[in-house]
Amino acid sequence: MIIIKRDMEVEYMRHAGKVVSNTLVALQEVVKPGMTTAELDRIAEDIILKQGAIPSFKGYHGFPASICASVNNEVVHGIPSKRVLEEGDIISIDCGAYLKGYHGDAARTVPVGRVTGEALELIKVTEQSFFEGVKKAVVGNRLTDISNAIQIYVEKFGFSVVRTFVGHGIGKDMHEEPNVPNYGAPGRGPKLVAGMVLAIEPMVNRGSQHVSIESNGWTAVTIDGSLSAHYENTVAILDNGPEILTI
Ligand code: MG
Ligand code: MG
Repeated sequence: MIIIKRDMEVEYMRHAGKVVSNTLVALQEVVKPGMTTAELDRIAEDIILKQGAIPSFKGYHGFPASICASVNNEVVHGIPSKRVLEEGDIISIDCGAYLKGYHGDAARTVPVGRVTGEALELIKVTEQSFFEGVKKAVVGNRLTDISNAIQIYVEKFGFSVVRTFVGHGIGKDMHEEPNVPNYGAPGRGPKLVAGMVLAIEPMVNRGSQHVSIESNGWTAVTIDGSLSAHYENTVAILDNGPEILTI
């Protein structure tokens, strides 16, 4: 069942979303060669707690950290560790925060120092594909109008959309119905109505769409070793159009 949020609930979700966006902005500023992903996680947790919120991810199905930190060919669910970031890496940081009974969820892929043009292009296309999807997140459209717009945009550049993971409804639970795929034919799925809140999150690979899961049981990597990027925001569908809660 898709849970439709009342105005007051959307208002609470703005607060959770603000915590997430503040945290991601701060993290993007501190990412640099020589730091570990565990350090980044500590900083994130600190910033989330200081805002009176709780990291959504920590303990979620046993996940051990406050952010997911996925480097280069890692697609999502990278576990922060002693891994040292190197000049030229790209890192996808996924962050969730719980405040006043509601979750916010967003992700950015960030260059570490100077990176290749290929890496920058992937980051840019992934980000823009989200905005192409959001244009379709309007009352009266169908869910997969969003999915289709993302896929069409990404594939224009010869990149591929990951199928294994999808976006989701969000609210009192971090993952609610419906699933929000980043691919597929338009005009399917539920009709979009005011009060739906969706985490729209394209994951895009430079190579094949296929991923495998590492032995830690969490981290998804591209099977061909190609670079992957992730861009996500929590979006409220309202009568006057979509409102992005995590920017
Ligand atoms: Mg996320
Ligand atoms: Mg999400």
